[in-house]
Amino acid sequence: MTPWRVGGTPDAAGSLERRRDIMVREHLAGRGIRSQAVIRAMEEVPREAFIPEQLWEHAYDDNPLPIDEGQTISQPYIVAYMTEALELGVSDRVLEIGTGSGYAAAVLSRIVATVHSVERLEGLARSARERLDRLGYSNVLVHEGDGTLGWPEHAPYDAIVVTAGAPRVPPPLLHQLAIGGRLVIPVGPVPEFQLLVRVRRLNEDEYRTEELCGVRFVPLIGAKGW
Ligand code: SAH
Repeated sequence: MTPWRVGGTPDAAGSLERRRDIMVREHLAGRGIRSQAVIRAMEEVPREAFIPEQLWEHAYDDNPLPIDEGQTISQPYIVAYMTEALELGVSDRVLEIGTGSGYAAAVLSRIVATVHSVERLEGLARSARERLDRLGYSNVLVHEGDGTLGWPEHAPYDAIVVTAGAPRVPPPLLHQLAIGGRLVIPVGPVPEFQLLVRVRRLNEDEYRTEELCGVRFVPLIGAKGW
């Protein structure tokens, strides 16, 4: 799928495509991302389509960038790392909490069957939904609401990813994981930085938690968040 072209000029589009290839090679493959499905998805999704036009020249820097309402689009390496950590299969149903720009949802949508993504800010939810529709990511459904409560309507999920930092793992997310499902979430006792953890549901009552790495996300705000 080539859903979008920068400014309509072949040169600008070509240069962004080249930068995307370099980003994937140097920042993702070069730093240990091994999943071919993740690499392919990151090669395919145009990150510039998810950020303001003034920032296009930074679209493929390996940094988070500001989006509307004081939120951020995550660093590409972290998007790839978290996506890989979810151990996705092609028929998986995934829940993302924190739609933001919709970029991570678009990446997930290239790998799995269905992505449900929840955003608490109405303006961001609306613009992400419009953007994803326009770009043709038709297997992403954006819901507006408090994602600390999950999205019970479509549970259980094979994988859940939270792209905002939580004080603790919200219990509704554990309950909405399928048996064998994986939850990847940044957690920490202060809002400024977190430890990324993966929680695996072993059976009806048992979960196993692994610590992955230190990260910095905007806070997860809600009934079971900050
Ligand atoms: N995945 C996004 C980055 C999101 S930044 C991207 O690829 O662009 C984190 C987002 O989480 C912000 O948009 C913020 O508004 C949202 N958020 C914070 N608390 C939330 C909650 N309880 N439920 C849903 N979204 C929440």
